[in-house]
Amino acid sequence: MTGQNPDVSIVIPMYNEEQNIHALFQRLFPVLSSLSESWEVVCINDGSSDRTLEILLAEQKARPGLMVVDLARNFGQHAAVMAGFSRSRGRWIITMDADLQNPPEEIPAIMDCFRKGHDLVGTVRMGRQDTAFRKWASRITNRLITRISGIKLQDFGCMLRGYSRDVVNGILENPEYRTFIPALATFFAHNPVEIPVRHEDRAAGDSKYSLLKLFGLQLDLMTGFSMWPLRILFFVGMGLAITGILLAFSLVALRIMFGPGWAAQGVFTLFAALFFFVGAQFFALGLLGEYIGRIFQAVRKRPSFLVGKVYV
Ligand code: UDP
Ligand code: MG
Repeated sequence: MTGQNPDVSIVIPMYNEEQNIHALFQRLFPVLSSLSESWEVVCINDGSSDRTLEILLAEQKARPGLMVVDLARNFGQHAAVMAGFSRSRGRWIITMDADLQNPPEEIPAIMDCFRKGHDLVGTVRMGRQDTAFRKWASRITNRLITRISGIKLQDFGCMLRGYSRDVVNGILENPEYRTFIPALATFFAHNPVEIPVRHEDRAAGDSKYSLLKLFGLQLDLMTGFSMWPLRILFFVGMGLAITGILLAFSLVALRIMFGPGWAAQGVFTLFAALFFFVGAQFFALGLLGEYIGRIFQAVRKRPSFLVGKVYV
């Protein structure tokens, strides 16, 4: 594939996925061959410590149309997808996971939406194969994000998604240090649509997300798209202050009514109140810190990914 740009680019981030690449390609490439459009596959090696890169390069020899972007180190899934976007050449771009949780067989359905003129194709996972905790966490997140950001999507978490070149260029031109691509994409889309897709169990290996990394992603999503948490902070702070004043008044009143003997026991009430306020302040500071940290990152304008080498 030289010179001519393909119609569709499939962008797949990979972090320690040596066990899945072969099975993925066995299913993905036949699906692509059945399309009437031309295509390319852009795999991003996100600083894997296993044989992911080696296997990708071996596969590349047998599979024309496979581009491998090797990042300098591990930058995280969304940064890896950004790197893939920046190298992709298709008129349409489809992202998916490497672990076969997103069945490649759903790609034609996304292509149909493109052909109908949609510029963003979201997906809703049907029969989701994740732990109960993950499902529960995502349900809460999806609801919360819809409420606070006003972005109307049913499922933010599924990475099997389609984007038009314009949407991808929009995302690339507005790089944010840490971002959440499905949510960001809605900002640039004129004619989005959501379709149901199947969801499968991870084919091999473990999820690359630890609890801490998942939490980081939630914070990216929350602070990246809304100022509501800051506003809530304001109201909570105000509420606490008023409660504090009322408490002080009632303590004085009780002291007057029941005499000095009572006051000694009030010490504990004060302790309780104190701990409450101190805790609330720490919480508030932490949240502020999150935003300030992100401002700091944005001001530094560090790239969210560094490409080591591109193998075409
Ligand atoms: N991934 C990545 N960099 C990371 C973590 C994950 O490129 O730092 C890739 C991973 O190889 C997979 C996709 O992102 O293709 C989704 O990761 P995973 O399946 O671990 O997430 P989960 O399905 O548990 O949300
Ligand atoms: Mg997965």
